[in-house]
Amino acid sequence: MFEKVLIANRGEIALRILRACREMGIATVAVHSSADTDAMHVRLADESVCIGPPAAKDSYLSIQSILSAATISHADAIHPGYGFLSENADFASMVEEHGIAFIGPTADHIRLMGDKVAAKAAVQAAGIPVVPGSDGAVADLDDANRVAQDIGLPVLIKAAAGGGGRGMKVVREAGELADALKMAQMEAMTAFGNGAVYIEKFLGRPRHIEIQILADGHGNVVHLGERDCSLQRRHQKVLEEAPSPALNETERAEIGRITVEAVKALGYRSAGTVEYLYEDGAFYFIEMNTRLQVEHPVTEAITGIDLVREMVRVAQGAKLSITQDDIRLRGHAVECRINAEDPATFIPSPGEVGIYHAPGGLGVRVDSALYSGYTVPPYYDSMIAKLIVHGATRNECLMRLRRALQEFVVDGISTNIPLQQRIVGERAFVDGNYDIHWLEKLVAETDDAG
Ligand code: ADP
Repeated sequence: MFEKVLIANRGEIALRILRACREMGIATVAVHSSADTDAMHVRLADESVCIGPPAAKDSYLSIQSILSAATISHADAIHPGYGFLSENADFASMVEEHGIAFIGPTADHIRLMGDKVAAKAAVQAAGIPVVPGSDGAVADLDDANRVAQDIGLPVLIKAAAGGGGRGMKVVREAGELADALKMAQMEAMTAFGNGAVYIEKFLGRPRHIEIQILADGHGNVVHLGERDCSLQRRHQKVLEEAPSPALNETERAEIGRITVEAVKALGYRSAGTVEYLYEDGAFYFIEMNTRLQVEHPVTEAITGIDLVREMVRVAQGAKLSITQDDIRLRGHAVECRINAEDPATFIPSPGEVGIYHAPGGLGVRVDSALYSGYTVPPYYDSMIAKLIVHGATRNECLMRLRRALQEFVVDGISTNIPLQQRIVGERAFVDGNYDIHWLEKLVAETDDAG
């Protein structure tokens, strides 16, 4: 049993993990940069250690500082949260080499899924459907032309070491392929230090649907249904819901079963998410995230299962506390990501928060590290809160979400609450009738009009 967990993160996710640990009777160590001395996660933790200056590369991304903090505070385990070092395989293995448990998957699984080409091949071998495309990385232009001819245009060029939706190029005409390939390889080299790229069929109007899984490394794997994360801007998720309005029971059960079988075959441990694009009734794997995700609370809302608690338990070597038969999806949940940004220009808006009032009431959860008088620092991600609303039906959930957004007060800085209000008022959203391009089109129409 862990006695003390160090949380290698900040903001709302540090609080989320801290809360789970405290409910399990586990002491917590917060780490923070010098810009976060007054942050909520530092105030609430049992102990805290300053790990460096504001820049993330010198603090939240400093493996050395975090390992030192864990050693001096005698932490038994480290939870990395999401972002920062959560998908850094070297970090995971160094943590374990120091005799500290890593609350996540093995370093090998993180490394495998971080290489998109290797990941695609591994999951395909385990029975997961993938987007038609090149067999691994493309060698040269001849190879790329052959692939494009085989699968047909349009195609998408993607970086093998990619992430965050960066470095992708859509090719619609055969004549564009040569330039696009060169550019993609160069960009991949600059951004990721690895110029390898691969090619996929470009899907025109897919939805982004992902399956949450939990695995204990003793052969037990369950899925907790899907999340629909199609509402994106620049490949960043803005609003997520579960279940997806697009899936029927048969499709849900089938993709859940396929995902669980594959995750078993891979021998995976911890929480994980298998992301798919879904178009015309078919699923295509895009990537597996080997960590807790921002949007995990919508799954918690409809299943009643504490995902962080299960992650901590399996990292201690315990078996999952639930079987697939225990998992029942109840009602509907939506998460709105509240960002400190201008709702029209999307420019980040850090600064001092005046009055802060979070909504409450039945079915409303707010995960946030904000408080009145807090100054949002300019150095990190602009997400300042997550509003998660649960209702017996999708309609009840959306009515509740509208009233919760109305109650939300964050004075002093700009937020995207007006954008979220607009989304939940749109006919297409209410009808569940949207794909991954819908939000960008909605926002672009406003730009044209303004
Ligand atoms: P990253 O790791 O950079 O986030 P992903 O493979 O997860 O890259 O893709 C990010 C986003 O790009 C997806 O959510 C989707 O919006 C879009 N995308 C990825 N692959 C395709 C494809 N084959 N066709 C159309 N859109 C795609």
